[in-house]
Amino acid sequence: MIPAQFDYVAAESATHAIDLLAAHGDDAKVLAGGHSLLPMMKLRLAQPEILIDIARIGELAGISIDGDELVIGATTRHADLAASELVRTDAPLLAHAASLVGDPQIRHRGTIGGSLAHADPAADLPMALVALGGSVELRGPDGTRLVAADDFFAGFFETALEPGELLTAVRVPRRPDDPWGYQKFVRRANDWAIVGVAAAGGRIALANMGPVPVRARAAEHALAEGADAAHAAELAAEGTSPGEDIHADAEYRRHLARVLTARALAGQRS
Ligand SMILES: Cc1cc2nc3c(=O)[nH]c(=O)nc-3n(C[C@H](O)[C@H](O)[C@H](O)COP(=O)(O)OP(=O)(O)OC[C@H]3O[C@@H](n4cnc5c(N)ncnc54)[C@H](O)[C@@H]3O)c2cc1C
Repeated sequence: MIPAQFDYVAAESATHAIDLLAAHGDDAKVLAGGHSLLPMMKLRLAQPEILIDIARIGELAGISIDGDELVIGATTRHADLAASELVRTDAPLLAHAASLVGDPQIRHRGTIGGSLAHADPAADLPMALVALGGSVELRGPDGTRLVAADDFFAGFFETALEPGELLTAVRVPRRPDDPWGYQKFVRRANDWAIVGVAAAGGRIALANMGPVPVRARAAEHALAEGADAAHAAELAAEGTSPGEDIHADAEYRRHLARVLTARALAGQRS
């Protein structure tokens, strides 16, 4: 479990990181909290020749308000999201999701940008951002573009990030009054979700029910048409394509999606 040899450079600014990415191309990988990348390197699933560390770039961290959105810097750590009064007030589902990521050590190193860029379909924050209708800011040599969370996750561990682009910030609508519910089914407290459900303001997102975090659109539609939570939840697995692994087969995941959606909707807080 020792990674292949690599070089390391600490970027001093977002622009510096983007310049370094342009200079090193496919040989480089961005390093944020390292809690997904370093395990991949130890397993030799990733063998970058150079790591570009963005963790100490001040402009990429922190949480602020921009009109009706929260703007969360990419290197904001899970623990800071969970503890933030701004996030707890304006997007409480996100603070709650961050509080359930891994264990305290992981929450104090892992970053929101790293979690989204890694795009594990079982992860908490990608599902939360989809449920909240958020978006991400991607900055590259040609400027900055905004991508909706619904469009950001492109496939299994794949995103809309182009080579040379850095995820610089996350935008989340401020909706303090939206009812929300969150369910994460795990065998052990610090595990990834076997299935997860995040519901907020009529949107429902599912974790580990396909290669990307997916919307339970049939259930959302039923809710919008006036169905009660129990009937809407019956439709939660429609259109999903869950995989099978040691924890659950596809049919059990569909069952979990229905049960957890019913619980998430019934137990909604605001
Ligand atoms: C034991 C364990 C348990 C865990 N449990 C959970 C869990 O329950 N739920 C959960 O959601 N997650 C869990 N995680 C994952 C954890 O949340 C990671 O911290 C997170 O997925 C990655 O964030 P990071 O900052 O560590 O990213 P890194 O590991 O540094 O990077 C991950 C990937 O994203 C890229 N990247 C990072 N930042 C950027 C950026 N700003 N722009 C472009 N690319 C970038 C990197 O190049 C790399 O490819 C767990 C991890 C471990 C080790």
